[in-house]
Parts: sequence; C-alpha cells; structure tokens
Amino acid sequence: MALPKLQENRAVQMLNAAAQGKYGVLGVVCYNLESIVAAIRAAEKKKAPLQILLFPWALKYSPLLVDFAAMAARSAKVPVTVHMDHAQEPDIIRIAAQIKAADGTPAFDSIMVDMSHYEKEENLAKTKELVAFCHERGIATEAEPGRIEGGEDGVKDTAELEGMMTTAEEVDDFVATGIDFLAPAFGNVHGEYGGVENIKLDYDRLESIHKKTQGKVQVVLHGTNGFPSDIMAKCIERGITRVNVNKLVLSKYNDYVEENTGKVPLTQLMEEGTKLIQQLCEEWMDNLGSTGKA
Ligand SMILES: [Zn+2]
Repeated sequence: MALPKLQENRAVQMLNAAAQGKYGVLGVVCYNLESIVAAIRAAEKKKAPLQILLFPWALKYSPLLVDFAAMAARSAKVPVTVHMDHAQEPDIIRIAAQIKAADGTPAFDSIMVDMSHYEKEENLAKTKELVAFCHERGIATEAEPGRIEGGEDGVKDTAELEGMMTTAEEVDDFVATGIDFLAPAFGNVHGEYGGVENIKLDYDRLESIHKKTQGKVQVVLHGTNGFPSDIMAKCIERGITRVNVNKLVLSKYNDYVEENTGKVPLTQLMEEGTKLIQQLCEEWMDNLGSTGKA
C-alpha cells in the first residue's frame, strides 16, 4: 500500500478549512469511552468537524482505547480525527505513529511532538527528527514553542519549569522543523487559572505569531479551562483553528460522577455522563462557529 500523502491528511485539511472559514474546531481531551461517544454524537448532531485528543496515557492504559477512538472516528457521519496530544517521549511518538486502524491507515491523524522539557537545541533537533518520522507515515505534527505552564490530568506537570512566552525567533525555528500545527504560549496555561480575572492573554503576541506563520502552519490553542466564549472568540479572530478543551466539556460529567458514583447503576452513570459531555460539546461547537461546517 502506498504511504498516505500529507496533503491528504485529514487533520491538516480540517484545520486549513477552519482557517479559511475563520472558525475553531473543537479538540476534545478524551479519557474514556463516554467522552469519545459524547464528542462524536455532538459532532454528528451539530454537523461539526471534531478532533479527539488522547494523551500518551491512553496508550499506557490500554491500546484498545486508541483502537476504539480510531474506529469511532472512521465510522462517524462527519469528519473526526484522532490526535495524540503532548507526546513527551520520543519512543511513545514512534510507537504511536506506527499504530494502524482497522482500515490500515495510521490510527493517529496527528501527533503533538512535545519536547518542551528539553533545552532549546535538543528540543529542536528531536522535534525535527520525530516530525520526519511522522510525516513519512502521513501523520501531521504539532509542537509548542515557548512553554505553556502547568499540568493536566495525564500530562507531565511543567510548573517547576519557567513558563516562557513564544517569541518570533522560536516561531521561525519551529516552523523550520516541518511541524504542521503550532501551539503558542501567550499567557495561556495548562490547568486552572483560578477565575476569569486571572486569564491574561497577550493578544498582540498571538496576532503577530499568526501573521508570521500564515500559509505555513495552523495555530492551535492549549490551556482553556474556564475560558468564557468571548475570550475564545478573540483567539479565533486572531487565527486559532483548533481549541483544546478539557474541563470546559468535562466539568459537568466530573461533578455528576462525583455525586452519583455508588448511588445509581453504572449504566446510568455512563449514559447520563455521556449526555452531559455531549451537551457541553454542542454548546462549544456553536460558540466556536464550527456548527454546520462538517
Ligand atoms: Zn496542551
């Protein structure tokens, strides 16, 4: 079988279309079956494109979760891709890039090559090498120049490392590694902001990063816990094409599970939980302007 071409990569096509149409694609961090089912149901109902985000944790927990996501994405009635977010070990990236879905295509449409815990030179060298490894297999790649501070469930906490805003020079360096998507640090953090008043984004920086990368890579947003829709809209106006969401769509589910575990049957816990995630995914698809864009 001929290797898939990167121009035909579904994640690249999806974000190019979002850039063209000036809307945001929802990228849902999924930890379990409920979240994958819910996100896809929302995408089908809203006729919205969707990216399912799995952390390397998913692979460690069970490769079956990756198989499930890949199968679910392919059987969806709208375009859905599977992305590995924050792959921080070169070995995990090589393993993930070689996992095939049942149809023989790569299970992951895109992989985030996150070498941000290495010093800059090593980071760039490793990123370049791993980007080539993924590209040879038709898989798109993402990197994070600068450093988005904090940690997320399933991701190594980088809070002990100094957070750094993405500079113009770093943008050039990372674009030169061949990446397809760029996750800039412009005041966004992983984890909690502790209130909307603490969300302090450098929009001018985002705007200039977007200008610099236009036509080369698509810009994506990490660290959105607690974002109201007006802040999201400002980011999309300035070129963001995919918005990674975790608590924004999982918060009601998390609360429901906490309150009801052991009190209702497990089937009800799953079904109600799935509905709550779907509901928030649908709201965000409306907010990001991706409803009807599939
Ligand atoms: Zn992230």
